Amino acid sequence: MSRPVPAIVILGNGSLATARKIAQLYPGALIHGLAERVEGADRVYHEFGATLREFYQQDTPIIALCAAGIVIRTLAPLLLEKGAEPPVLAVAEDGSAVVPLLGGLGGVNVMAREIAAVLEVAAAITTSGELRFGTCLLNPPSGYALGDLESGKRFVSDLLAGHSVRIEGAAPWLDQAQLPEDPQAQRSIHVGSAEREASANELLIYPRSVAVAVSAGVADLPDTIRAALQQAKVAVQSLACLVAAEDEMASPALREAALELGVPLRFVTSVSDLSTLPDVTIIATAHDITIAVAEQPLDVTQIGRPRGRLAVIGLGPGAAELMVPAVKAELARATDVLGYETYVRMAGPFREDQVLHCTDNREEMQRARHAFELAAQGRSVIVVSSGDPGVFAMAAAVLEALHESSEPSWHSVDLEILPGVSASLATAAQAGAPLGHDFCVMSLSDNLKPWSIIEKRLDLAAEADLALAFYNPISRARPWQLGQALEIVGRHRTSETVVVLGRDIGRPGQSLRVTTLGELTPDQVDMRTMVLIGSSTTCVFPRAEGGNWVYTPRWYGVKPAS
Ligand code: SAH
Repeated sequence: MSRPVPAIVILGNGSLATARKIAQLYPGALIHGLAERVEGADRVYHEFGATLREFYQQDTPIIALCAAGIVIRTLAPLLLEKGAEPPVLAVAEDGSAVVPLLGGLGGVNVMAREIAAVLEVAAAITTSGELRFGTCLLNPPSGYALGDLESGKRFVSDLLAGHSVRIEGAAPWLDQAQLPEDPQAQRSIHVGSAEREASANELLIYPRSVAVAVSAGVADLPDTIRAALQQAKVAVQSLACLVAAEDEMASPALREAALELGVPLRFVTSVSDLSTLPDVTIIATAHDITIAVAEQPLDVTQIGRPRGRLAVIGLGPGAAELMVPAVKAELARATDVLGYETYVRMAGPFREDQVLHCTDNREEMQRARHAFELAAQGRSVIVVSSGDPGVFAMAAAVLEALHESSEPSWHSVDLEILPGVSASLATAAQAGAPLGHDFCVMSLSDNLKPWSIIEKRLDLAAEADLALAFYNPISRARPWQLGQALEIVGRHRTSETVVVLGRDIGRPGQSLRVTTLGELTPDQVDMRTMVLIGSSTTCVFPRAEGGNWVYTPRWYGVKPAS
């Protein structure tokens, strides 16, 4: 299993050189720099405390280039909570000290040694078992699972107190450890996939060497799998993955079973493929369940393929703070990113292993189909939109492509639409609350709909006294449409009607302008502008810091007594 990519957090330009050296160790790791203090970081943050706590809660390893005390005080409120405990390290700004602080079981000492090695200093390792034996027995490498943490801690303190140990089974990573080994020892480390009751003097480590092939139709899958393993005398801790046939890819029962058992789910053309895995013994049991036990931990990436995923995401208007956390997490897991080049660039930076497929803005259906082709191969694909993907953007195109397709592998893809802050809402928020009452959202583009229907909708929406939000208000290819639209609105609204123009909202060089319908001319608007036209009740008043607040009251007609 790949390790999560750490976040490198710095407070000043002085740490940038050290941060860059550390970043080279972890492909994809980003350097997060404090706004206005750091130039040239990969990402900017505004508040150190909130940023660090967010990483911690998301289980992201943290490398903070600052005093250990600051990190401790910042994370202290979270330490009593159960939940994530990622590795956390403090590194001196100049790279002269590396201090692992938290996440011993997450491999913090391993990271501390790696970082110390590139900085050519010694890591400040304080864990006694680790110091004495050169490895953390309680944190076996990926491919192995520790039986029980509490008895494991007791076992390690016994060894520290001077007891010797014998190793049963194959534990190649312990060969380099300096354990007090003795073939006659009372205490033993037992490595094996057979179910076993740990005796008082035993540390059990399970190789993840078992694959279980199942069919979605089996009732009560997790319990049936546990029972089948027990019957075969195989430890459930050794389970490496569930395997199922490709035509059952979309089954929620399989997905939930894998989630509950905490193992990945892989799909093969035929379950009998399991017998082709190297060095496996097949134990067939009843209930459509086949158990394959290998000698060594299984490399699950070599077994069939995962269910592909396609996420259609909204970036929000542009500013990173306005991107929803679910979208950030999706960007981190993606293998392929598709979209109009401007938006793909806005969504980055990406890791070297992530494939970018940039296309022209107009090739929407082609992009949607390409996304399904990639996802159907088992990849984790993102289609990027600005704002919200469901508002004049890619989500509808993706669903249209799926609706038109009879390809089963496309329909089996794990498809999800993740929302974003749409331009109308981001613009409205900056102006106040111009959309605080009923409103109507329209695209003025007649590329995919006749201009006559746009005119009709404008006329009726304006007559209904709805506030109006215009997307795609104008472009070089559509120069006259906005003027015509304003003329139609003007038939139902006075020239004093409030208008808000938001350009590049949430992006560098953003501008917000409050004007009136009478003063508005199409040359004040371009394709990067959001046009909000108030209703008859929309009003304006000055704000203390200059400019105006705009809002549309919640009531209509008669103001209620307050
Ligand atoms: N899915 C996007 C809209 C795409 S249509 C969303 O939900 O925001 C493109 C139009 O959106 C542009 O012509 C412009 O009118 C508006 N728009 C998109 N981003 C904007 C921004 N940052 N500031 C102002 N308007 C924007």
